[in-house]
Amino acid sequence: MMIDSKLPRVGTTIFTRMSALASEHKALNLSQGFPDFDAPQALLEAMARHVMNGHNQYAPMAGLPALREQIAAQLLRYRGVSCDPDSEITVVPGATEGIYCAITACVRSGDEVIVLDPCYDSYEPAIALAGGRAIHVPLTAHNFGVDWQRVAAAVTSRTRLIVVNSPHNPSGAALSSDDMRQLEALAERHNLLVVSDEVYEHLIYDGRQHHSALQFPALRQRSFALFSFGKTFSVTGWKTGYCVAPPALTAELRKVHQFVCFVAVTPVQLAVADFMAAEPGYAGTLAAFYQRKRDLFCDALAGSRFRVAPSAGTYFQLLDYSAITPVADQQLATDWTREHGIASIPVSVFYDEPPDQHYLRFCFAKSDEVLLQAAERLCEI
Ligand code: PMP
Ligand code: GLN
Repeated sequence: MMIDSKLPRVGTTIFTRMSALASEHKALNLSQGFPDFDAPQALLEAMARHVMNGHNQYAPMAGLPALREQIAAQLLRYRGVSCDPDSEITVVPGATEGIYCAITACVRSGDEVIVLDPCYDSYEPAIALAGGRAIHVPLTAHNFGVDWQRVAAAVTSRTRLIVVNSPHNPSGAALSSDDMRQLEALAERHNLLVVSDEVYEHLIYDGRQHHSALQFPALRQRSFALFSFGKTFSVTGWKTGYCVAPPALTAELRKVHQFVCFVAVTPVQLAVADFMAAEPGYAGTLAAFYQRKRDLFCDALAGSRFRVAPSAGTYFQLLDYSAITPVADQQLATDWTREHGIASIPVSVFYDEPPDQHYLRFCFAKSDEVLLQAAERLCEI
């Protein structure tokens, strides 16, 4: 039986498709964003211990109190932000679910939601399923900055929410404190809610600071901020993260969360809580760890024909291939997986109206050997 699709333009995600193609052709997989190395041993052991000790039933709906307390402690430590673990922090089964619940909780039929292109693929379907309409505002060409005048011009009486993401997937750009102040002024002026996707908060380079929506008073009042343990602790397959929002917004988020997933996975929460308590400084080591990998990859591309502008954050590096070929990025990503054994993500898929740019995204959360081998193959192109 056929049904009238609620998401007629949506197919299988580019991440699923490129990872499948990489595995079919035994290519180096720098497409989907996930580390090819394991999480800290202590975290893995804690997970195994909690499973074997029988912690395998439902956790409380909002998340284990011990984990929410650790999250509050780390927000204070890294961002200087105080949060009430009971009324402002919700543990979610992946930031994706948290984003979905936040959007579903506040977008009504006919509402407009501003997203900045290229934007992460899960936002628009969530907006559409809530009956809203995504209004796409492109980031500036090549440096992927926000043109706040253009954003302001996109606001109408129907605009309910704006979604921002910093550090930014796929570009690796990061919002400055000035950007955050512009966002704050805009949101206040038009009484907008904000979904701030900060899953790469700790992956920020060259001495830059991450600026969280939680650090700006007027944004703090109107934002859902989303984080992911998958990125911070190299366990993307554990699908656990959290949402921080003021009590009234958190209450609405939880009304949705409790019927989408109800809870996040219990032993994961216990293991992460143990690890955060034992190693509170771990997240602070990530910037140096990944910056070294970024530099290893970019330096090894020095003799190539790509234009390389080292990314400011995330574990993604864009490469501009316009000096090599005019072929469209989606075709090229497929061709190079087959012909050169290297899989990447075409950036145009994250746009409503792709600009005339030629970028592929490469994930550098990989072993040094894989990064060097990948660079060697890219240098031959
Ligand atoms: N937002 C962005 C920008 C991401 O790159 C990801 C990575 N998958 C997510 C959200 C989702 O995170 P999670 O795996 O915790 O759902
Ligand atoms: N966020 C990851 C990326 O950008 C992929 C997550 C997914 O496969 N949905 O590559």
